[in-house]
Amino acid sequence: MRVGVDLGGTKIEAIVLAPGGVERARQRVATPRSYEETLVAIDQLVRDVERGADTRDATVGVGIPGAIVPGTGLVKNANSTWLNGQPLGADLADRLGRPVRLTNDANCFALSEATDGAGAGAGVVFGVILGTGVGGGIVVGGRVLDGANLVAGEWGHNPLPWLAPDEYPGPDCYCGKRGCIESWLSGPGFEADHARCTGRSTPSREIVAAAAAGEPASRASLARYHDRLARALASVINLLDPDAIVLGGGMSNVPALADDVTALLPRHVFSDSVVTRVARNVHGDSSGVRGAAWLWPEGDGR
Ligand SMILES: [Zn+2]
Repeated sequence: MRVGVDLGGTKIEAIVLAPGGVERARQRVATPRSYEETLVAIDQLVRDVERGADTRDATVGVGIPGAIVPGTGLVKNANSTWLNGQPLGADLADRLGRPVRLTNDANCFALSEATDGAGAGAGVVFGVILGTGVGGGIVVGGRVLDGANLVAGEWGHNPLPWLAPDEYPGPDCYCGKRGCIESWLSGPGFEADHARCTGRSTPSREIVAAAAAGEPASRASLARYHDRLARALASVINLLDPDAIVLGGGMSNVPALADDVTALLPRHVFSDSVVTRVARNVHGDSSGVRGAAWLWPEGDGR
């Protein structure tokens, strides 16, 4: 049995997966606002969810909304700021009396989809989050590729490639640079682009619906989004050449996004043919807990 914990800004959710990925129990609690209370809450949640699945001493993986400092194991860049600077993995291992694996939520998404989701069976999977931010994770042979700096797959603050003259230098990004992929391809980035072209601020859902109904300006905004996503993914393919790319986050709900982007990839990929499978995620909001649980893959017991 494996327990996965998704530590979010507003809730902490835990799941128990039996062999084969069958869900045995699931539970959630509100996220406390202090570090000590967060440790207590996760400890309790793991034990409760184990009881619900009639098991104990399951493996434990945790997905966090931030990064881990290489070497020290300290949390950084978490928007739940009380986690920053804390040795979360070590403290949880102490409390639970067993090793705990930790990674960021984009890696959990990629791992969940690579294990038994839209990227199942693919050797190399790039999991992409297109939400309020843009993140990503890489899974090779069923394991997360962390990278030397623990940032492998974090493509959101690379610049959008192959800029058209009217795209240069690109929107300001909160990271201090301009033209980051995130500033174009996040939900807010898509809305901002539409607003720049139309003078109207419109929620992304409404732009997508209007495009489907044939409204020209919304169709044009969506076409620009497709083209930019294709360019951004093509540069990943040229470097990593994954077997599968899985789309997640709110913008992955745009109808036919994966197919439309697939059709545009050959314009930019340095290859005569592109066989990379691009697909929408299967597990949706459950990817966080499921991916955390799969941090202990089958055949990798303690
Ligand atoms: Zn940026």
